[in-house]
Amino acid sequence: MTIVLGGGISGLSAAYYLLKQSKVSHAPKLFEASHRFGGWIKTDVSSNDRRVRFECGPRTIRPKGVKGLNTLQLCSELGLNNDVLPIKSSHPAAKNRMLVVNNELCMLPSTLAGAFKTLPPFTRPLIYGFYHDFRHKYTDKPLMDDTIYNFTERRFGKEIADYLISSMICGICAGDAKEISVKFLLKDLFDYEQKHQSVLMGIYNKSLERILQKNVATSPTNSEPIQNCELVKQSITQKWSIYSMNDGLEKLPKTLSDHLKSNGVELNTNAKCENIEFGTNGANVTINGKSYETDQLVSSLPAFELGKLVKKQHPQLADELLAIPYVDVAVINLQYSGNKNLLKTPAFGFLVPPAQNLPILGVLFDSCCFDMGENTVLTVMMGGKWFHERFGNGNEQDLYEKAIEQIQRILKIDQRPDAFKVHILRQCIPQYIVGHFDRIDRIMRYIEQNKLPLKVCGTAYDGVGVNDAIYSAKMAIDSIKK
Ligand SMILES: Cc1cc2nc3c(=O)[nH]c(=O)nc-3n(C[C@H](O)[C@H](O)[C@H](O)COP(=O)(O)OP(=O)(O)OC[C@H]3O[C@@H](n4cnc5c(N)ncnc54)[C@H](O)[C@@H]3O)c2cc1C
Repeated sequence: MTIVLGGGISGLSAAYYLLKQSKVSHAPKLFEASHRFGGWIKTDVSSNDRRVRFECGPRTIRPKGVKGLNTLQLCSELGLNNDVLPIKSSHPAAKNRMLVVNNELCMLPSTLAGAFKTLPPFTRPLIYGFYHDFRHKYTDKPLMDDTIYNFTERRFGKEIADYLISSMICGICAGDAKEISVKFLLKDLFDYEQKHQSVLMGIYNKSLERILQKNVATSPTNSEPIQNCELVKQSITQKWSIYSMNDGLEKLPKTLSDHLKSNGVELNTNAKCENIEFGTNGANVTINGKSYETDQLVSSLPAFELGKLVKKQHPQLADELLAIPYVDVAVINLQYSGNKNLLKTPAFGFLVPPAQNLPILGVLFDSCCFDMGENTVLTVMMGGKWFHERFGNGNEQDLYEKAIEQIQRILKIDQRPDAFKVHILRQCIPQYIVGHFDRIDRIMRYIEQNKLPLKVCGTAYDGVGVNDAIYSAKMAIDSIKK
């Protein structure tokens, strides 16, 4: 019998892939510490108007790449085809993304032509970044890793590092580009630089190699089940940019947990794992004081939680897990009733480059993305890497007032919201700082060399988004099969 720890989207997905792999008689047991499933995926639907939804954590999923298509396939297998709410690439929320620089909203270019124009806050067209890369060959001693800030400043210039990359890192993981590893997002480009002295030269050489070998790699997305999936086909032909679900993103973990329950998986809430002890043929886990034997343990817990649980028996493994930092984020949902046109420019939202020193990371324009009736609905993200230096331990009223002040100043919305919610999400996003991927290699090697009956999944290891979480669960379960 397999035990899965954690009932967020990765734990639920792990149980789903285990179920697919085994017979019902071998259905896994899942233990979740809190009173509900879904982890950070949580949607509050307004009781007055069901179209108004406050997402407390993630709100959209990208349908692209191997991991994106895998999630679509999961949605399809769960019968969610009619619940998926896509935003097509022609929609303003897909095209319009802004930055706030010197108190002004600046639209980022969304087309290739835009990259050839000089648009504020940049003093040169973005395409100039490639010229910078070509002119400044890398000739220093080879690097194993670097911050994404150093890399982009060196290759494409300071403005791209300060405005574009630093904001993107805030948007993706609420982190500081001056600490996050370049391998988090730009591993291939970093490898090109290290091998060919410039990114452009790397791209050129790679294309040449491909032409000579006449051997364009077939990606795992070409696998039959994914290609035959109706939802995948729709996402490609209709050019989806991102999507959510009817009734909000929580629909996905809710449907998944219902599916698992009705297929014999024992799902337990208020079931906190307090200790793990590995033996020669399995593991013993203590849940609320009661002990359970398992021949295979799957942990989807945050790294710091798993670290605490294995510390007594495996201090070296625990030290590596506990060294992965996490940040706190405040999510403030705002609803302005009766006027859906409070925003001057329809967009996905805006991000604030950290050097602007504002108390917010960015604002998402929820009611521009999805129909929320006659309401303007916004979400303000605050804190992340800077949470404690800006807000101490975090006071909800103080965070709310600061959020409203920025909305008034930047978006010129003077009225106060008719409804709001403040959530302080503690230790919610792992930070892939320089050296992260070497640490993950050491963690995986330790588990393998010590023959621990343990598989790990979740966002601590190889990607922080919903797609990453689901795919990591799939990979973990596939590796048991092998
Ligand atoms: C504010 C915010 C916005 C985001 N926006 C997006 C977005 O728009 N798109 C996107 O793709 N991703 C986004 N993400 C990331 C996304 O939320 C995560 O990728 C995903 O939810 C992680 O799921 P998980 O199951 O790995 O972890 P979690 O959701 O953290 O689940 C882990 C579970 O383990 C449980 N647990 C902890 N300790 C124990 C224990 N000792 N015993 C038993 N159970 C335990 C927890 O209660 C929790 O339910 C966002 C994240 C945040 C915080």
